[in-house]
Amino acid sequence: MTNSDQNPNSGDVYVNENCIWCGACVAICWEVFDLDDDGLAFASPWVQETDNVNDAIWACPVDAIHYKD
Ligand code: SF4
Repeated sequence: MTNSDQNPNSGDVYVNENCIWCGACVAICWEVFDLDDDGLAFASPWVQETDNVNDAIWACPVDAIHYKD
């Protein structure tokens, strides 16, 4: 699965093009985030707001994770 399959228009959060593939979000919230073969993280479409998601958002060094409006 690639970013083009999932981002940015599916799910409650998305990862934008600022992602530098550091893996922090995956380490913090592996239930939601994963790294794809294109060098970007992506969020599972079923994600709901959780403390782990918020922690991953705060931990992202390039502010690449956002909730959809
Ligand atoms: S923490 Fe941010 S930069 Fe790092 S992999 Fe996740 S979305 Fe990408």
